[in-house]
This record gives sequence, structure tokens and C-alpha cells, in this order.
Amino acid sequence: MVSKYLLILVILMAAIFIWRGNRRVAAKERQAKEQRTKVIDMQPCRWCAVHIPTTEAVQGKHGSYCSVAHLHKAEP
Ligand SMILES: [Zn+2]
Repeated sequence: MVSKYLLILVILMAAIFIWRGNRRVAAKERQAKEQRTKVIDMQPCRWCAVHIPTTEAVQGKHGSYCSVAHLHKAEP
């Protein structure tokens, strides 16, 4: 009788262990995906060709720039 409960306990612990391991892998994959997305989200400045994240780029009429200074140089 006791060994039956022990077996169930061991199976349960193994299941939890595997579940936690899978969650860690999923989190790591999500992190890698986010980093890839960040790399894709880079774009060059139209004036100096320096790559900047899209979220930090300064938008001009003809494209995006790394700074307001370069926007004014390219589009006076
Ligand atoms: Zn620039």
C-alpha cells in the first residue's frame, strides 16, 4: 500500500520537474525570439548610415535618421 503512494509521489515529482524544465526552455526561446526581433528592427540613418533601432530613429520626410542634427543636414 505504502509503495503505491510512493510511486504516485515519484511520478508526480517527475511530472513537475519536466513541466518546470519545459517552461524554462520556452522562456529561453521567447527571449531569443525577442532578441532576433530587435535585430530586425534596426534601420540605417539616411545621412551617416549608422544603424539605429526603429523606435529611436528620427523620422524625416524621405526616411529616418539617427538624430535630429542629421535630419536637418539631409532635409534642410
Ligand atoms: Zn546619422
